[in-house]
Amino acid sequence: MTSEEENKVAMVIVAHPDDAEFGSSGTSALWIKEGWDVYYVICTDASGGGDDLATTLSVGARRETTETRKREQRAAGEIIGLKDVIFLDYPDGILEPSLALRRDIVRMLRTYRPSRVICPSPDRVWEPAYYIGRHHPDHLACGQAALAAVYPASQNAWDFPELLAEGLAPHKVSEVFVVGAPVNNYSVDISATLDIKIAALRAHDSQLGSHFDEVEKWMREGAARAGEADGLPFAERFHRIENR
Ligand SMILES: [Zn+2]
Repeated sequence: MTSEEENKVAMVIVAHPDDAEFGSSGTSALWIKEGWDVYYVICTDASGGGDDLATTLSVGARRETTETRKREQRAAGEIIGLKDVIFLDYPDGILEPSLALRRDIVRMLRTYRPSRVICPSPDRVWEPAYYIGRHHPDHLACGQAALAAVYPASQNAWDFPELLAEGLAPHKVSEVFVVGAPVNNYSVDISATLDIKIAALRAHDSQLGSHFDEVEKWMREGAARAGEADGLPFAERFHRIENR
């Protein structure tokens, strides 16, 4: 038995609710079908995501937005079959790749001990058709903190020694799958799970409900386009890194 078979645990680290559905939920759903335990770690508190001024300026309304978006994320997680969704509750919209965030992600890695991690790219992609949402500073910050947490901090005992005092031994992640990277080198065939991905996206009703038909069309077309690189009907593309 390989060490991977002994530890079929994956962790998806993103900034906001719905990021993981857009970027990699077809892959998560596929891995779950293959017997993996998948956890989501959402770095922010999901208090943004509205463009109504009255909502934006009201503390009570922001709290309500947080509760709604967390509920929607948990509902999406149930559709995919996640083991759990964990929120780190950093304020939405001002996420920074701080040492505090890196330490909190290391704590998650050392607690759940995933052999695979999915995270967003810390780098922008300068291509004309690139969707501007990928450039959200929270996404870039999340990617930078997550990659720094995977290597070297999670696997090195001398990084964040206070975590050793919490009983969290170093943990080495075997593979990282970066979403939205400038260079992709790996496709996952999501033909069997594209409908689950669409259903999970539909759970994010407060963000996507008003234009879901458009979102669904866009996702199906995007998955077909992503599949072209490796001759697959539908795919999610990643930059995959092996941590040897
Ligand atoms: Zn986002």
